[in-house]
Amino acid sequence: MRILTGLQPSGVLHIGNYFGAIKPLMDLQGKGEVFLFLADLHALTSLQDAAALRQAVRTAAIDLMACGLDVERTILWRQSDVPLHSELMWVLSTVTPMGLMERMVAYKEKTARGISSNVGLFTYPILQAADILAYDADLVPVGRDQKQHLEATRDIAVKINEAFGAGTLKLPEPAISEHVAVVPGLDGQKMSKSYGNTIDIFMEEKALRKRVMSIVTDSTPLEDPKNPDGSIIVDLYRLFATPEQVQEMKDQFRAGGMGYGHFKQRLFEAMWEYFAPMRARREEIVARPGYVDEVLAEGARRADAVARPVVNRVFSAVGLR
Ligand code: ATP
Ligand code: MG
Repeated sequence: MRILTGLQPSGVLHIGNYFGAIKPLMDLQGKGEVFLFLADLHALTSLQDAAALRQAVRTAAIDLMACGLDVERTILWRQSDVPLHSELMWVLSTVTPMGLMERMVAYKEKTARGISSNVGLFTYPILQAADILAYDADLVPVGRDQKQHLEATRDIAVKINEAFGAGTLKLPEPAISEHVAVVPGLDGQKMSKSYGNTIDIFMEEKALRKRVMSIVTDSTPLEDPKNPDGSIIVDLYRLFATPEQVQEMKDQFRAGGMGYGHFKQRLFEAMWEYFAPMRARREEIVARPGYVDEVLAEGARRADAVARPVVNRVFSAVGLR
């Protein structure tokens, strides 16, 4: 089974990204052949800073490898290193009705949020369709927000097959992860870079402790019983501790006699320990000069080898070869 997904290289990883996106992806490595690309062509629709874009791709590659990406099994590449994405996109765009793109909610939401519109942002779902269809992907794990784009991918593939022959493109199945829990941030809202309430996974020790200590709590005095239900501290602790440890913390909340600072310290320790192997792995990777470039070059070579026959098939079906 071929599982394909793209990640926007968007800077520093936080705990929400890790448990909501990265870890589920790493767990898929045992279930099929994972194709994972760093979507720099997509990022270009909203990031106009060459150094920042280049750096974001490297950081994403390093972080993924640190978090368990197995470069032997999983194909990791930079989207722009395989020009076939862009080439296939053109062909797909010629069968894509304007109306289909005009119905895309993500575009409307982005422009409503003040992101300046450009044609690339508008046609983004066609590039996304090319990203997927170029690899004959079986399964595409996406969040709820990407469901509409995946349906558009299928619509576009159907158009090609109707016009140029059944079997020209393979229709991918979405794997919508409905059950992924939303990780709360320091203030209890969804942890998000744009809310400034994140805890980053590769933070330095002192900064991390300080961040954890800044989790918002109520003003229940130290000696009084506290309510563990809905506590941000307990909800975050759950991600790093065993069910028994969580139960113990909840009991201590209810018993009173311990302040929030104590529980935050325990959360910090659990978190620090949880990410220790990833921090160590990250240091190893960063210390090897040229390693990231090698991995990305090899990934691009392997990705190209898979996509080329597919794109050739399409090009010859439509009369370009
Ligand atoms: P932004 O504020 O710019 O939207 P973000 O911090 O929300 O950034 P994204 O780049 O939107 O991060 O998300 C990257 C991935 O991490 C997505 O798959 C998203 O679903 C997941 N993710 C982000 N925040 C959380 C969270 N708090 N809980 C669970 N998953 C999350
Ligand atoms: Mg977000």
